Amino acid sequence: MSKIEKSYDVLIVGTGVAGLCCALNLPRETRILMLTKAAVDESDSFLAQGGICMLRGTEDFEGYFEDTLRAGHYENDETAVRQMILSSPEMIADLVGYGVDFAKDEKGEFRFTREGGHSRPRILFHDDVTGKEITSKLLVKARACKNIVIREYTELIDLICEGNECFGGVVRDCNSGALQAVYAKFTLLATGGVGGLYEHSTNFRHLTGDALAIALLHGIEVEHLNYVQIHPTTFYSEKHGRRFLISESVRGEGAILLDKEGKRFCNELLPRDVVTAEIRAQMKKDGTKFVWLDMRPVGEATIAEHFPTIRRRCLQEGYDVCRQPIPVVPAQHYFMGGIRVDLNAKTSMKRLFAAGETACNGVHGKNRLASNSLLESLIWAKRAAMLMAQKLPDVSIEMPPAALDGYGEDAARREKYAKMIREEAEREECCD
Ligand SMILES: Cc1cc2nc3c(=O)[nH]c(=O)nc-3n(C[C@H](O)[C@H](O)[C@H](O)COP(=O)(O)OP(=O)(O)OC[C@H]3O[C@@H](n4cnc5c(N)ncnc54)[C@H](O)[C@@H]3O)c2cc1C
Repeated sequence: MSKIEKSYDVLIVGTGVAGLCCALNLPRETRILMLTKAAVDESDSFLAQGGICMLRGTEDFEGYFEDTLRAGHYENDETAVRQMILSSPEMIADLVGYGVDFAKDEKGEFRFTREGGHSRPRILFHDDVTGKEITSKLLVKARACKNIVIREYTELIDLICEGNECFGGVVRDCNSGALQAVYAKFTLLATGGVGGLYEHSTNFRHLTGDALAIALLHGIEVEHLNYVQIHPTTFYSEKHGRRFLISESVRGEGAILLDKEGKRFCNELLPRDVVTAEIRAQMKKDGTKFVWLDMRPVGEATIAEHFPTIRRRCLQEGYDVCRQPIPVVPAQHYFMGGIRVDLNAKTSMKRLFAAGETACNGVHGKNRLASNSLLESLIWAKRAAMLMAQKLPDVSIEMPPAALDGYGEDAARREKYAKMIREEAEREECCD
């Protein structure tokens, strides 16, 4: 493992799409350290199945805007939504430039699919592993850059702050437990979601909202920690661990939900929170722990072409989606709240940025529209990089003393951080 230097120009915490996109958009002479708490391929960005939205043309702007707002219960920041939608074609062009391969028709034009809450197909995809396709291509590019150091199994446990200014972070080697102060001109928090705090979640278990707790610790503004999205359809299992997601686009392609009698009980294309509520009501009525999802209407050819991973995984669990319905249950999936940021991913603390699922820029409002999160993460990460790039020449590295003791036992610190997030979420829930 490469040695961590005492200082860098930019410290990026997280190697999902947000962290990687920021690193790749910084000038090549910028000295960058990227940290990840686990292996580089263990981020939720790798798990995204459905796809990534793109504005298909000016005529779709109103529809896309309205779909995002409707899903978000009109609590979205309209300027942020506009920024995301209008920047989407450029971001998709960037991704294609990085070598990302989206599905195309026989004429070589992009193919678009549809998911719940969308009034028309506007989602680009790569089989049912779009996140892996995007993130692995970004990772290849980042690894090829000599100015980017990627350090696995190394976690941020605190920020180094003085007044309302951030000078880097205290990092911990997850294997040895050794602590080190790392100074930087700018720091980006891109630590993903909070699923690891829940018993049932589609997220990686190590995603425990660490950056949020650290933000709370330092009085950095956070927002809507109680806005958590539950995905309506994850494969029902008695086993402990991450829940396997059955992408919304299977419903977009015709899959239907059935009760214990095999009868359809809701409109499968309504936004996620509405479908989740319908499923929970049906489970209560039927006295069951799951409902059934029937993918047979999608057709064997589309299943083979578009959903090979879902089919393979369900076969491992003993179900052939081409022959029989599968048991599904809602589970924690996405976090709409987070560290409050502006249109350039700046937090309320100087020199500190946040992007991706750990940040709240107002795009999603109270509920995220399917396939808007990869896009939003990438766009805000790029904007953070552009602003940092402008300012880097005029900023110097400062190294105020950082105390490396006082963090206590690792398990106790984790529990303390988790408790802080839960308490803030409960407080916000009471105030809503
Ligand atoms: C199963 C599933 C399917 C999804 N499908 C879609 C989809 O089809 N379309 C879509 O738009 N979105 C989808 N999403 C959501 C989307 O994948 C995420 O919102 C997005 O990838 C978040 O990217 P990120 O870079 O913010 O975080 P992540 O990709 O989760 O990366 C977080 C990174 O932070 C690191 N980290 C965490 N804490 C620390 C710490 N303390 N110190 C150091 N490193 C730390 C992690 O190790 C990881 O590297 C899906 C999510 C899941 C779980």
